[in-house]
Amino acid sequence: MLISAEVDSLILERAYAKINLTLDVLFKRSDGYHEVDMVMQSIDLSDTLWLEPLDADRVEIDSAASHIPLDGRNLAAIAAQVFRRRLGIRRGVRIYIDKQVPVAAGLGGGSADAAAVLRGLNRLWQTGLSVAELAAMGAEIGSDVPFCVAGGCAVATGRGELLQPVMHPFRPYVVLVRPAVHVSTSEVYGALTPADYSPVRHSTTMLDALASGSVDAVDAAVYNGLAPCTFQRYPGVAAMQRRVAQISQRPVHMSGSGPTLYCLLPNRNAALRLYNAIRGFTRDVYVARFVMPG
Ligand code: ATP
Repeated sequence: MLISAEVDSLILERAYAKINLTLDVLFKRSDGYHEVDMVMQSIDLSDTLWLEPLDADRVEIDSAASHIPLDGRNLAAIAAQVFRRRLGIRRGVRIYIDKQVPVAAGLGGGSADAAAVLRGLNRLWQTGLSVAELAAMGAEIGSDVPFCVAGGCAVATGRGELLQPVMHPFRPYVVLVRPAVHVSTSEVYGALTPADYSPVRHSTTMLDALASGSVDAVDAAVYNGLAPCTFQRYPGVAAMQRRVAQISQRPVHMSGSGPTLYCLLPNRNAALRLYNAIRGFTRDVYVARFVMPG
């Protein structure tokens, strides 16, 4: 049983997964990164992080989840170290991660955890940093971390760290399927050729579609410039896409570099019907909804 003072100092943060509604790779930059243009959207599939102050000057990390490192390589631990170093803080923290977002899925789970730690430490140690300051700190940890600091919907450019928030009223359901295939993000980016680069930014059409609130319009505007490369290199992902398309009779999209695939559904009943149909052949299926945190 925790005494009340301890309860007061425990911080809870939710780390929402994201999907890519659009992902254009524009060109390869001289620093080796690819210049991208993406519409990112938070969904309410989330990890929960607990942050507890430690008397000792160290960062501890714990989770019941397998498949994530429980040491200084965890993105949550890296975020805590960056935060402490940047602010010259010598206090410690223990971080517990209740992992619900599938790992290495193209859903940004690790980036979301890192962003949740930045927000949580800002509260725990009352450092008063703005969202923009936390996002700038997040760019040091990973390209998707700045988006995950505020979440919601945004157009992300640069290597993903330059954000233009988007407000829209569209709250569809999302059914996500994770094929049992390990996709290497760096391998997919590394295999791109100029033929894969987008001559246009699909984000422009997507913003109009989101404002319309129509699932069909958004489905038609979804674009992922990494999908051909992932489907070609990982036939298991392409096979799952065909299977889900056959069952759902709907467009099936891929998030990030994959392997997670998703369908947009207009209401909960339609989402649950599709969820149950897919559960007939895989357990790695999830129902979520677009969310605008805060
Ligand atoms: P990316 O496309 O950046 O690889 P992703 O969304 O596909 O991200 P993540 O779930 O973020 O996948 O995991 C990417 C890698 O980061 C995995 O190899 C995982 O072991 C490692 N990792 C480190 N910390 C975490 C964490 N807190 N949660 C998830 N993965 C983590």
